[in-house]
Amino acid sequence: MSNRLEILASAPGPAAARPPLLCRGNAKLGRELIWSFSIPAVASCPGSTPACRAACYARSGRFAFPSVKGRHARNLARAERPGFVADLVDQVRRDFVRVVRVHGSGDFHSAGYVGRWAEAARICRSTVFYAYTRSWRVPEIRGALADFAGLPNVRLWYSGDRDSGPPPRDPGVRTAWMIGPGEPTGSVPATADLAFRVRRSGPLKRANGVLVCPYEQAVPRSCPPITCERCRICFDRPPRPPARP
Ligand code: SF4
Repeated sequence: MSNRLEILASAPGPAAARPPLLCRGNAKLGRELIWSFSIPAVASCPGSTPACRAACYARSGRFAFPSVKGRHARNLARAERPGFVADLVDQVRRDFVRVVRVHGSGDFHSAGYVGRWAEAARICRSTVFYAYTRSWRVPEIRGALADFAGLPNVRLWYSGDRDSGPPPRDPGVRTAWMIGPGEPTGSVPATADLAFRVRRSGPLKRANGVLVCPYEQAVPRSCPPITCERCRICFDRPPRPPARP
């Protein structure tokens, strides 16, 4: 870990009380189905780029509240201590968690940490774990990510942007592209599986043929607002490729 990460990981927290690691839902995820786990943004993101750091939603708003920052620092500390996987599994079972968004903020900061999530996913086989990551850019972590993505209940997305270039295509991994402010929609690589917009400057369903996250399409709809638990694209099993003739 970097020095900054070591400082965050050693942040004091209640030793006896063990608060839940996973939080249930939010306005985007929906309020029922999806639980998320968060650690400090940027400091735990070894594959971050200038473009994603500049656009990072997890550095402002409610993420900047001292109580939220403290919780994320404690989560990171617990993720580095023995008992993390056991605590995760306990909560998944106790709260009947069916879908986990790994990292509402933060990213996979080491291969060992990816391995702990893989261990939890192997134990909790009825629960789907999904995550977006730029840590594919770190060679020591990419192999662990590829192993994680190979688990049947894991949905992993490699994130890319103008600074990272298109992510590699590892088996079982889909790619998400961040459209930065002012970037033309034609700059989205046609090979991407999904596009996210930093600014919703008008209705947009596809960018260079790539589906835009429905939550960010800014298309007027008469139905209730799109949430991840209604949309499900990111954590449902991706459609199979067409059979070869
Ligand atoms: S594509 Fe769907 S599931 Fe994925 S982030 Fe957007 S709304 Fe959520």
